[in-house]
Amino acid sequence: MIQKRVKELASEIARDHQGKDTVLVGILKGAVFFFCDLARELDIQVGIDFLRAASYGPSSSSSGTITLTKDVETPLEGKSVVLVEDIIDTGLTMSRILEELKRKKPSEVKVCVLLDKPERREIEVQVDYCGFRVEGGFVVGYGLDYDEQYRNLSEIFVLKGI
Ligand code: 5GP
Repeated sequence: MIQKRVKELASEIARDHQGKDTVLVGILKGAVFFFCDLARELDIQVGIDFLRAASYGPSSSSSGTITLTKDVETPLEGKSVVLVEDIIDTGLTMSRILEELKRKKPSEVKVCVLLDKPERREIEVQVDYCGFRVEGGFVVGYGLDYDEQYRNLSEIFVLKGI
């Protein structure tokens, strides 16, 4: 099911980015599995890069204090950027990352998330490509962790008891 949806997202992204100088930017570490599968399904030429955002506070939610601990290395000025994230919840992480990326003057930034939990949103963020909506609960697997565990599970599971 995940792979089928990843293929569909890749064809939407490819269709929207034909002829554009595009960089796929993955957010470490959670998006890595999704990022690699998505990149392999894209039949357009793209650059790839990564950034890392650390959120300070409880590990099951965003605290609002979000710092970029690794920046992209590719100059993004004039480029079309597709930001690839595992999950968007409150939106705080994504809006902070978008703020930083926009300073690099890309021609456009699109947001691609595997999972969206829209009912917990605190800040409005435009999600351009979304894999699946999730109702709530804390999910792990396919890159998503709980305290650095479960990232390598090949499917997504709801973690009980937290
Ligand atoms: P936001 O800033 O949108 O609230 O949260 C984004 C980050 O919180 C994600 O990148 C992820 O690290 C973490 N997060 C939010 N919900 C979940 C979840 O259900 N499972 C996991 N593993 N991480 C989550």
